[in-house]
Amino acid sequence: MLEDTLERRTAPALALLAEHGRYRRAISTFPSLTPVCLSALATGAHPDVHEIPHLVWYHRGEQRLVEYGSSFGAVRAAGTKQSLIDTVYELNASHLGRSAVTVYEALEDAGLTAAAVNITCYRGRTEHRPTVPFLTRPAQGPSRFFFYNLFESDVTGAPLSVRNRPRGTIDAYAAAVGRWLVTRDGFDFLVFYLSDYDYASHAVGPDAAHNVLRGALARCDDAVGGLIEAAGGADQFLEHYAVILCADHGQTQVDEVVRLQDTFPGAIVTASNRAGMVYSEGDADELAARLDGNPGVDVVLYREGEEAVARRDGEELRFTRDGTSGDAAILDHPQGLERAWAALANPNAGELIVSAAAGWEFADLAGRHHAGGGSHGSLLAGDSEVPMLTVGLETLPSSIVEVMPAVLEHFGVAPPAYVRASARA
Ligand SMILES: [Zn+2]
Repeated sequence: MLEDTLERRTAPALALLAEHGRYRRAISTFPSLTPVCLSALATGAHPDVHEIPHLVWYHRGEQRLVEYGSSFGAVRAAGTKQSLIDTVYELNASHLGRSAVTVYEALEDAGLTAAAVNITCYRGRTEHRPTVPFLTRPAQGPSRFFFYNLFESDVTGAPLSVRNRPRGTIDAYAAAVGRWLVTRDGFDFLVFYLSDYDYASHAVGPDAAHNVLRGALARCDDAVGGLIEAAGGADQFLEHYAVILCADHGQTQVDEVVRLQDTFPGAIVTASNRAGMVYSEGDADELAARLDGNPGVDVVLYREGEEAVARRDGEELRFTRDGTSGDAAILDHPQGLERAWAALANPNAGELIVSAAAGWEFADLAGRHHAGGGSHGSLLAGDSEVPMLTVGLETLPSSIVEVMPAVLEHFGVAPPAYVRASARA
């Protein structure tokens, strides 16, 4: 969709950025689902470091499910209040890895001012009191922090975000806050997260030449255009700011649904969109073999001692950080080996990680799915490729984990040690 826009010049703000920038396709992380991806963008790391494994997962320490919002039904099944606490607070306060450093922490430790609007990975150094009575605890965010009217570091007059999601009120909130921040020159670094396009694409499918998608894209463009206008127009905006414009994951059309839960009675299965996890003490080889021939499954991943195994229909690829043996075609996905290894090296991952086949989705805790619409989460290219556009920047990231280091480089701030280590590898 973005490529079409840039070629057709139908979205003026995005086209303006494209004219002045460099563009490529880049790769997301795995599972390619929003909490995992936004944590990768904010920390410059895959889940082996940031430790957010999925949209829904089993917390071994607390012996309970964590559900960040697969569907209303899934949230109800996991406990509505607990889901709210996990999404609003615990993702950042306790789930996000302690050894991970967020872009806000790194920049503000260097004396810069960071701002975040609506991004679910927000951990920072400044305590913010909630702005609504039903939340009581403070949250630690960047010094300028706006999160769906729940936390607002400044009074901006932005409208309520959750009035009417299908009509774009969440992004309208972000747009108003963004304009307010730019007008006041209120930050050195801003994360401006627009989620309504993903919402629209889930509903109608990513390939639909549909007015719903056109409308969502037009609102994205308006939101970005509002920042440009607030800076005093294109020349002043481009002179004053460097920009990274990207998505956190792709989407693909889904038409069929499988319930992974049915294959593993007695085990804990956390499935949502196009990725699933199985938490079980059982023999991983035997568990993985149960999915041989399942049309909804592309690849099953698990650890065996020092090695990782990728299995498809009884064929295996064994791999470590250093090499592979077996059928390499099993993981010929974009950055497949690296992303699969990092997903398995997350201490919060299930013993099995399942990546869905093209066109299939895994039913969530409440049996909900997006069949007939769009979805994402798998290792396949459609879910994993994202547009990446930079304006006024030294580098053009080839992965979403390279975004945070590119930002730090721009400001002359040293990246965390794990970024330097993965650059050497
Ligand atoms: Zn989504």
